[in-house]
Amino acid sequence: MSASTVRKAKKLVEEGNVIKIDDELFQVRSSSDPEKSYMVTLDSCDCLGYKNFYKFHHGKGLKANCSHLEAVRIFLQG
Ligand SMILES: [Zn+2]
Repeated sequence: MSASTVRKAKKLVEEGNVIKIDDELFQVRSSSDPEKSYMVTLDSCDCLGYKNFYKFHHGKGLKANCSHLEAVRIFLQG
């Protein structure tokens, strides 16, 4: 995962954009568009970047990730 993804994720957490809805469900507000938010579980996100990940990296054995998913991980650790 890229350093910029981690940086973005940390910023989302610091700015209070991660909201816990349930034990395994979180709402993460978009940093670029406050009107937008994504529903994130512990291993999936409904943003376009996450959905497109497997399209672009199909068969490379990589696990999809995005700044929202990473933000939830940081949120849970901190
Ligand atoms: Zn996402």
